[in-house]
Amino acid sequence: MAQLTMLKEVVKSLFSKPSTEPLAEVEKGVFSPYSRGYPVLIPEKCTGCSLCAMNCPSNAITMKIVGEKNVGGRTLPVRRPEFNYFKCIYCGLCAQVCQFNAIEMRRELVILRPGSKC
Ligand code: SF4
Ligand code: SF4
Repeated sequence: MAQLTMLKEVVKSLFSKPSTEPLAEVEKGVFSPYSRGYPVLIPEKCTGCSLCAMNCPSNAITMKIVGEKNVGGRTLPVRRPEFNYFKCIYCGLCAQVCQFNAIEMRRELVILRPGSKC
C-alpha cells in the first residue's frame, strides 16, 4: 500500500511544475529598491588603507595580501579588502568611508554561494 502511494507521488511529480525558481530567472533580478545594494571593490582605485575593514560593523571585510610593491627600495605587501557576503549586512558604510571611491554598492542581483568572493 505504501509503495502504491509512493508510486502515485512519483508519477504526480513527473507532471507537476518544479517547486523552485529557475536559476536564470533569479540571476536577471536586481536588489530591492529599498536596499543599498552590495559592496564591490574597484581594485585599481584601492590604496589598501584598511579604513573600510576598520569601520565595517559586522567584520565582513578581511584585508588580504594580493601582491608586493617596491617603495623606496623596500618590498611592501599590497593589501586589498575581501568581502564576506555571508557576514555583510549591506549597510554601505565601507563605501561611505572609502576616501578613494574604491567601493561601489551595486544593485544587480548575483547568486552568492559559500566561498563567493568579490
Ligand atoms: S577600499 Fe577604500 S577604504 Fe578600503 S582599503 Fe581600499 S582605499 Fe582603503
Ligand atoms: S556593506 Fe556594511 S557590513 Fe557590508 S562590508 Fe560594507 S561596511 Fe561591512
